[in-house]
Amino acid sequence: MIDLRSDTVTQPSLAMREAMFQAPVGDDVYGDDPTVNSLEERVAALFGKEAGLFTPSGSLANQLGIRMLVKPGEEILTEVNSHIVRAELGAAATFSGITTRTWEDPRGFFDADRALNIARPNSGPYLVSTTAIAVENTHNFGGGTVQSIEEIRKLHVAAQALEIFTHLDGARIWNAHVVSGISFSDYGQNFDTISVCLSKGLGAPVGSILLSTKERIVSARQWRKRYGAGMRQIGMLAAAGHYALDNNISRLADDHRRAKSLAQSAAHALPGSVNPEHVDTNIVALDLSMTKTTAAEVNAALKAEGILASALGPKFLRLVTHLDITDADIEKTNQVLSGLLQRAFMA
Ligand SMILES: *Cc1c(COP(=O)(O)O)cnc(C)c1O
Repeated sequence: MIDLRSDTVTQPSLAMREAMFQAPVGDDVYGDDPTVNSLEERVAALFGKEAGLFTPSGSLANQLGIRMLVKPGEEILTEVNSHIVRAELGAAATFSGITTRTWEDPRGFFDADRALNIARPNSGPYLVSTTAIAVENTHNFGGGTVQSIEEIRKLHVAAQALEIFTHLDGARIWNAHVVSGISFSDYGQNFDTISVCLSKGLGAPVGSILLSTKERIVSARQWRKRYGAGMRQIGMLAAAGHYALDNNISRLADDHRRAKSLAQSAAHALPGSVNPEHVDTNIVALDLSMTKTTAAEVNAALKAEGILASALGPKFLRLVTHLDITDADIEKTNQVLSGLLQRAFMA
């Protein structure tokens, strides 16, 4: 199977497994795991933050971060198709009593003014107060969109003046960095809390890191335990994270090149389904709304040919490249998909 459902499906390589096997470990609830400690410190330093916290998922890193910024009954603003509001099953409300309000960015491309226009800090006794704004970079459901650092800086300056905190859902910040050349610390200084994933394009089996001040991370560590995600000898997982940071960042450019090829082929077969110029990273979001075909139908036809993709909406098909996808896989996918899209175009 050529698995383009997500970059979460990657298999840990032999060399990564070897690093995991060799890792010194300890009880992380006691703060005794040297490999976890060094990973948390390493990623915090990379982003210019005081401290880090290893979590089993990116959702938990997001939710702990948000919880540190927003009190129950207050709100966080985020983009309408962001992971925080679309793919975390209402966790902000369920866990933390936090409400969300959304703005809409075409392709998920962040526009600071759209967020700031709906921000209502310190709203008094009758209205909900905005205490945080979240940005997703890259934007997953928007098609792997890389955000503009100018818009991010603009948000940060304005949010500070309004006493609103900023959170970065940086599950794929690695991909953004490879495309933009913007340093991790430059991203880091514009946000109060940051979540990053090691288990997407970087290829680790498990793990995300929440980054912030020492004080917030101490509190987030308690909440992680309270949620039941205090873990013991997880240095083996952290070792996979170290390996991923050492070896798998710059190679993301290969994933980006392959996604571009998918987009070019799809756009050729079905004009308007995707603009290849907008495909900067490893996600190809195909819009089938100009056809009578549904994403589920194309998905089933692909599957019959040994290719897996994700139907994320009635007309929304997503393909994601990653380190287990080869040039030959892309060639085959282009061949099969363009046939299907051409047929959809004619119908
Ligand atoms: C994958 C992802 C996350 C975290 O997802 P988990 O499955 O909880 O690890 C967070 N934000 C974005 C944008 C993602 O794509």
